[in-house]
Amino acid sequence: MKVQVIDEHFGLKEIHPSTKEWIILNIFRGSVYLFNRKKQGWSGELPFYLSKCHIHGYYITYKQGFHESLYCPKCTEDFFANEQNVGKKLALQR
Ligand SMILES: [Zn+2]
Repeated sequence: MKVQVIDEHFGLKEIHPSTKEWIILNIFRGSVYLFNRKKQGWSGELPFYLSKCHIHGYYITYKQGFHESLYCPKCTEDFFANEQNVGKKLALQR
């Protein structure tokens, strides 16, 4: 199975999840471990995950913040683009 992804880290366009992974993403609304990679300027590798936003679709990211959450890059962008939200806490939409 082939899905389009938003990937602002490595520029990947497509991912091929297995049926089991597709079920985790779409039925259980979970995330799937993809690979360990190091980005430029990082001291070490981090695990990257495939997750799905109900608005923007599939995206690739790593766990961020105190709660080690996965945030959709487009939702994060939209959130901070709205001046009224600056300083507010990012609410997860899942
Ligand atoms: Zn989103």
